[in-house]
Amino acid sequence: MIAVLKRDASREDKDQVIEVIRGENFEVHPIQGVEKTVVGVLGDPARKSNLKEKLETMGAVERVVLISDPYKLTSWNFKQEKTVIDLGDGVKVGGDQLTVMAGPCSVENREQIIETAKIVKAGGAQILRGGAFKPRTSPYSFQGLGEEGLKLMAEAREETGLKIVTELMDIEHIDVVCKYTDIIQIGARNMQNYSLLKEIGKLDKPVMLKRGMAATIKEWLLAAEYVMNNGNHDVILCERGVRTFGEETRNTMDLSSIPLVQQLSHLPVIADPSHGTGRWELVIPVARAAVAVGADGVMVEVHPDPQNALSDGPQSLKPKNYHLMMDEIKAINNSLHSFESRERKIAYA
Ligand code: PEP
Ligand code: MN
Repeated sequence: MIAVLKRDASREDKDQVIEVIRGENFEVHPIQGVEKTVVGVLGDPARKSNLKEKLETMGAVERVVLISDPYKLTSWNFKQEKTVIDLGDGVKVGGDQLTVMAGPCSVENREQIIETAKIVKAGGAQILRGGAFKPRTSPYSFQGLGEEGLKLMAEAREETGLKIVTELMDIEHIDVVCKYTDIIQIGARNMQNYSLLKEIGKLDKPVMLKRGMAATIKEWLLAAEYVMNNGNHDVILCERGVRTFGEETRNTMDLSSIPLVQQLSHLPVIADPSHGTGRWELVIPVARAAVAVGADGVMVEVHPDPQNALSDGPQSLKPKNYHLMMDEIKAINNSLHSFESRERKIAYA
């Protein structure tokens, strides 16, 4: 359940509420919104307690709401205010600006990553993507440059001012990845790696959690719950398509999950049409569609020479097409502002 505090509640009031909750042996998760303060209470729902009644009698408490969703901290009902993740230097995910993460599937060498970074920066992306630790289906495929790749990503950031996002695959690489990255990417294959999720939950670093290739929305939000429940509330969700019977596309891009998740959760949602389709010629139309259904941003693979890419060349945009996509999605995003808003999305529900 959540205790919504009155607008004029002081710090001491909040501390008192927290003390009462702890006194009853429940977990406390204060959430400081722009508008109001909410204190989340977590515990076994089957446990008998009169905590709700106790809180309701406290002067600083406006109301107490029971949350029946299986996910709590992730839920819109828990925090009825969109999460905005501030990466510094004016780059925010989940706010008014459309976030674009672009770059190669893998960091291959200095020239490739610096050149790509300059291209994506010129087109208006705020974040450079690039894998250094790669989860490849075959052990014989290029596995990534490891720390060397991370250093090159950091060099590209230095050169362009872009923020960076890169995948973390293992607990043992947490320190090295965190040393360089602005956002930790958890890939589809690791969405249900609960030990890894718990560890990144203890970090002070934004996380982008990709949807597992066979994950339901509930499983995806519960995976985000693992991260948040361990203390890290800076979670971004990324829809990257799910596995279906279709052979013509690498995955089936689930566009409906984007507005659905935005009704269920306050977390920002990014769309990845590159992995969602697996085909470069489908990336632009699906990116347009993702923005039109209200995605907070897109992640796309861009390569200066896709034919010779070491991974995911067939789904990588050439620079010219990336620029085309940027013009189109920016135009769609601008036109959305006239009729789309968070309140409106909720009103649909
Ligand atoms: C990636 O973004 O490079 C990647 C491996 O994606 P996913 O985990 O969605 O397959
Ligand atoms: Mn890829």
